[in-house]
Amino acid sequence: MVTLTQRFTGCLVGGLLGDVIGAPVEAESAAYIRKTFRTVDDILALDRVEELLGAYWTVGRYTDDTQMTLCVAEWLLEDGPTDGCKLLARFSEAFRPARRYGSSTAAILQAFEEHQEEWRALATLMFPSGSYGNGSAMRVGPIGCLYYQDPPALFKACRVSSLTTHSHPLAIQGATLQASAIAALMRGGDVLEVDRYLQSLDLVLKRLAREGPEPMEYRQALQTIADGLAASHEPARVAETLGTGLEAKEAVPMALYCFLFARDSFEQVIHHAVFLGGDTDTIASMAGALSGAFLGEKCLPGRWCARLRDEDITPGSMAGLARQLAGRAECSNLGS
Ligand SMILES: [Mg+2]
Repeated sequence: MVTLTQRFTGCLVGGLLGDVIGAPVEAESAAYIRKTFRTVDDILALDRVEELLGAYWTVGRYTDDTQMTLCVAEWLLEDGPTDGCKLLARFSEAFRPARRYGSSTAAILQAFEEHQEEWRALATLMFPSGSYGNGSAMRVGPIGCLYYQDPPALFKACRVSSLTTHSHPLAIQGATLQASAIAALMRGGDVLEVDRYLQSLDLVLKRLAREGPEPMEYRQALQTIADGLAASHEPARVAETLGTGLEAKEAVPMALYCFLFARDSFEQVIHHAVFLGGDTDTIASMAGALSGAFLGEKCLPGRWCARLRDEDITPGSMAGLARQLAGRAECSNLGS
């Protein structure tokens, strides 16, 4: 039996690995990735890849996905999940453009320092209706862990955290669906009954519909996922319908499909997510968080962890956060 702490650790470190492994091929096409690499290990064997304007990306480094996930974890543990301004302050302090932030998020974080009083208005700085990108869904792993037994608290934390940078309903819905998909794995056992799991996510959409706009896009996506799994379609085929882009309504369901299609193997989940092309770091990070949550930390390949190149965020530091979140979650369960 996989323990709760092993699942939390699997979720946070699995998300980190997916981000790192997807990063060298971010925004590349599936055709290019398949033509150039045979396996994920081929990508990790590189030292660096060329970026735009002659710059290089060092293989083994994490991106904004991991940086912001760490901020969310620290916000939950130290500030509580009610104050969006405190989360934005953490994002702003940790902001490093070289981690490949999205343009809208980068603009918000750069403006925050001088406009802290109007922080709520910053989310519509670039997009008048708010961003519907996947940037708030990619960082909800800690929320899905901490509130795995408490859907109202999970919904609220997803909403507050999303509103800081991604205030469009599609982004809030995507973040809530991803966190809920993680939470359901924490509540479940070592065997996943896919039909029941998808039914539980359908209930999440019903709850979202009661609290805001109808999540039509995600309802359709869950149906596409169910149909694809029933027909044993490869993720690459389902990607033709779901998409692999920056929008939350594409990336969140696509990550979920990669996880469910290859649910018994973390390595296969990451392989499928990365070889789809598109927003590979974020899709692989979200799929890795789901797979790690289900299989626990023992599923994480040591040879992949050994390729990580950053010293400030490591599998060990993420595991430490996971233990703190698990302790906090168990305390609140005892108290309820
Ligand atoms: Mg990224």
